[in-house]
Amino acid sequence: MIYLDYAATTPCDQEVIEGMLPFFAERFANASSIDHLPGNAARRAVDDARETVAALVDARPEDVIFTSGSTEANNLALSVPFRVLTTLVEHPSILDTFAARGSAQDGLIAIDRQGLVVTGHLQEQLSAGGQTLVSVIATNNETGVEQDVATLASYVRDEVLLHLDATQAIGTQQIHFRRDRIDGCSISAHKIFGPKGVGALLASSRLRRTMRPVLRGGGHERGLRSGTLNVPGIVGFGIAAALTVQRRTERREHIGTLRRCFLERLGASLGDGLVETITSAPTSPHVLSLRLIGINGRALLRAVRDELAFSLGSACATNKTEPSHVLLALGLDKRAIAETIRISFSGSQSIAEVEKAAEMIAAATRSLSGYSLSA
Ligand code: PMP
Repeated sequence: MIYLDYAATTPCDQEVIEGMLPFFAERFANASSIDHLPGNAARRAVDDARETVAALVDARPEDVIFTSGSTEANNLALSVPFRVLTTLVEHPSILDTFAARGSAQDGLIAIDRQGLVVTGHLQEQLSAGGQTLVSVIATNNETGVEQDVATLASYVRDEVLLHLDATQAIGTQQIHFRRDRIDGCSISAHKIFGPKGVGALLASSRLRRTMRPVLRGGGHERGLRSGTLNVPGIVGFGIAAALTVQRRTERREHIGTLRRCFLERLGASLGDGLVETITSAPTSPHVLSLRLIGINGRALLRAVRDELAFSLGSACATNKTEPSHVLLALGLDKRAIAETIRISFSGSQSIAEVEKAAEMIAAATRSLSGYSLSA
């Protein structure tokens, strides 16, 4: 099986697994039980992870609020009691939370046909004044488009706060939380070879002061996220974050090579039948959105399902049959969306593996040619 769905999730790195194991059994203490030694040791392990997770995005340890992942981090970030501006190409954990706020003062920022924020429109929206949280996906999970974070950050001043959903960005890109004065940053361990079910919201002191907890209770994480800390998960997240810092540049370069080799091999077979969704915006190399003209993506996935794993849109939406909201927002019609697949790579793959996958897709595409969308 060749796995080409690393934007959906990654396997745990062996070092991560080994680092987590003692915290399931012999080092099982509650990190809040600081009155005894085992509890103190668990607390120290969490504090160490807090440092490496903060360092991943150049934040301070005190900015880290551990959560169950980016979904929860996004929910928490949007809990602010003032205006929120966001875009139509966000992950559902932003869009659904945004809709649930039901606030008349909230608004949408225009995006162009590649999914980049139209900064003139953002400026216009901000000119009305008032305290505002701007929430933008840093690297899109369906298209790989990378927003110009430094430019967005230049609007962060006075009453304007910037929150990034950096879930897909952290594996391939440096986020400068402090340098760019970012106020919020959602991240998830399982996208960077860490465990599932653990993540963090990095929150500046002014965001921490204004957010309202989503989970109330014992007052963990400075009152912003109650609940016994997931010590094994947090330890694993810390190790994955440290490994990412060490390997990110090299990984990005290698993934860029994988993407080029995959596209060359597929293009050589399919020629004009292959169209990249994103043509003029910067993208993270790990996410590739492709249209195979005349080929239904779902039929293709079914044809190769014993050998290949890839996605039709975002994994979070695969149980839905509606067309991807991201691709709709970019102006693709329903037919184009039905013909679009998402391939996502990892730094742990070989060139031979992705070239083989391209050949399998090309062969399946040739045998499916003539497949009718209405079939
Ligand atoms: N935001 C983005 C951009 C994502 O890709 C994902 C995961 N698909 C999430 C948020 C949610 O992350 P999690 O499932 O870890 O809560």
